[in-house]
Amino acid sequence: ASTNIMPSPATVPCQYRTGKSLGSGTYAIVKEAVHIKTGKYYACKVINKKLMEGREYMVRNEIAVLKKVSQGHRNIVTLHDYFETAHNLYLVFDLCTGGELFDRICAKGNYYENDAADLVRTVFKAVQWIHSNHIVHRDLKPENLLFRSKKEDADIMLADFGLSRVLEEEQLQLLTEICGTPGYMAPEIFLKSGHGKPVDVWAMGVITYFLLCGYTPFDRETQQLEMEAILKGDYKFEPEEYWMNVSDVARDFVRQCLTVDPLKRPTAEQMLEHKWLADDKPHFVEDR
Ligand code: ADP
Ligand code: MG
Repeated sequence: ASTNIMPSPATVPCQYRTGKSLGSGTYAIVKEAVHIKTGKYYACKVINKKLMEGREYMVRNEIAVLKKVSQGHRNIVTLHDYFETAHNLYLVFDLCTGGELFDRICAKGNYYENDAADLVRTVFKAVQWIHSNHIVHRDLKPENLLFRSKKEDADIMLADFGLSRVLEEEQLQLLTEICGTPGYMAPEIFLKSGHGKPVDVWAMGVITYFLLCGYTPFDRETQQLEMEAILKGDYKFEPEEYWMNVSDVARDFVRQCLTVDPLKRPTAEQMLEHKWLADDKPHFVEDR
């Protein structure tokens, strides 16, 4: 490994000066950080050890997965460095200045179908790539998809491998703990019947739905009702006014991803062959 494992506490963090907050999640605050020597900007995920007490393995796992996937794919965030002090763990990433897909969807209301297809294709290719490396992400959602730059056509990046797992074998059903973000969680996670790569395909279905209409398919009054809707695959392409410009082929794509039975749900590879994504002509110029 090229990254230092445990440099002496308090010396290394002084190499960076942290600035404004970029976002936060369940356990971490992510701040802009400048490397003092080079003046280069990064995103620094600061994880409070006390908050993580007893779950430090989650961070070690995140680092282990990131070491496997970082720099392996253009659309996956790069872990640049990591270290710890007495109180915190620090993960230093390449900075994505374009913000979350979540905010772009909210700002736009929804995406044009062609633009949505381009994003979904790119993200699905990255998902297929991690799956081919026996990794399941388990927390795919628009808050964890970041744009490399502020440009309209910036690269979209897979981030937050905090809940990801390396699968030991080529097994479909393996993991049983309940985790994720309710609205994006596949039925088999609630059933505790074992889950694996298919949960990422399900989440991609929810994300695609969200991109097309601007709201999520299983949003209900309570978490209990939400879970029941997910277990039944109970969602509609409604209200009609939000869906009238969405093609049947796009709806079919969502429907396939949201197949309730994980054994019948298509794989990432199969979804990439779906007619909605098959037309892979570049719609815009690459930004690098
Ligand atoms: P958590 O595990 O707590 O959800 P994340 O890794 O998802 O932590 O980071 C939380 C938020 O911080 C993200 O949703 C995003 O807004 C921001 N963020 C994370 N990584 C970066 C990055 N490399 N560049 C810019 N912003 C980032
Ligand atoms: Mg997150």
